[in-house]
Amino acid sequence: MPDTPRPAARTLRTVGDLVDAGLAPEGARSALEEVARHYATAIPPAFAELIEHPDDPIGRQVIPDPAELVVTAEERSDPIGDDALSPVPGIVHRYADRALLKPLLVCPLYCRFCFRREHVGPDGGVLDEAALERALDWLRDHPAIGEVILTGGDPMMLSPRRMSRIIRALEAMPHVHTIRIHTRVPVADPARITEEMVAALDTICSMWVVAHVNHARELTPQARDAIRRIQARAIPVIAQSVLLRGVNDTPETLEALLRALVSARVRPYYLHQLDPAPGTSRFRVPIAQGQRLLAALRGRVTGLAWPTYVLDIPGGHGKVPIGPAYLETMENTVVGVRDPRGRSHRVEEGDSAKLALPRRGR
Ligand code: SF4
Repeated sequence: MPDTPRPAARTLRTVGDLVDAGLAPEGARSALEEVARHYATAIPPAFAELIEHPDDPIGRQVIPDPAELVVTAEERSDPIGDDALSPVPGIVHRYADRALLKPLLVCPLYCRFCFRREHVGPDGGVLDEAALERALDWLRDHPAIGEVILTGGDPMMLSPRRMSRIIRALEAMPHVHTIRIHTRVPVADPARITEEMVAALDTICSMWVVAHVNHARELTPQARDAIRRIQARAIPVIAQSVLLRGVNDTPETLEALLRALVSARVRPYYLHQLDPAPGTSRFRVPIAQGQRLLAALRGRVTGLAWPTYVLDIPGGHGKVPIGPAYLETMENTVVGVRDPRGRSHRVEEGDSAKLALPRRGR
């Protein structure tokens, strides 16, 4: 394998592309062909240019590895239970007031740790016009749904025309007040965020874009420009990241990521514990280590940069915060609190604390 990866002029999709670009050794060809039979690969030029070494924090996220063929006991093909919660193709309904709309399963790149890795890919999962209309009809028929989350795949891979058609259909539903778009495109393929695309996002609904970013280096000048084009339409951009071994699992890399996001006017929203998708164990960071990482940053980075560390409970039971705890309790009463340096302090709440406790036996 050459010492330095060669810049790619087009999206890398095959094992041959990876070998030719210096991102995979010739000797790994047959193992990687086996990985390719299970999972898609795509590395767009903007992302490939950031890779200094195949095992660096950028390369690890997108270059396939034979370790993906090893499935551990706790891993499952639908870790957060999307399939069981899908009333019609393209819709996932987990919470009373929200629903996911997945218009396609295509992504600008294919993350090697993706929780939907068994489903996403370039060949499948685009809702045709009739299927899209059935999914929209389901939303029309459910007035309790106030927020629709466009996800996939990556909805920013739609054409601006099709994106506009979906946004117009959603904003015409009187009960839908909020639209959220989950996307990796601003960092993976920023040129796709055109003026035409951001015009398609213009809506009377409360629109939020949630960018998936895992490492500070992903926020290139081009990515920041793409984010700015979205923000220029008065659309807030917030971020979700996945805690990944070898990518952002040190206090320094996590701090750099959070600071880079805030400097791009992007509020870190969620830091996800990795979902147990098949063949992803090389990325897993134990929850206790994640808590220690966040605790190490408390008091060191601005509260603006502080994401909620969350676990999507396997099996579709919902998301819960799992960050470090600071309160010390005794017999259901708060008695103390730890400061960012780990020192304990007494908390005096007086009688109001007793009044707030639920009464026993009722
Ligand atoms: S962009 Fe999102 S949906 Fe697509 S592979 Fe990455 S994590 Fe999965």
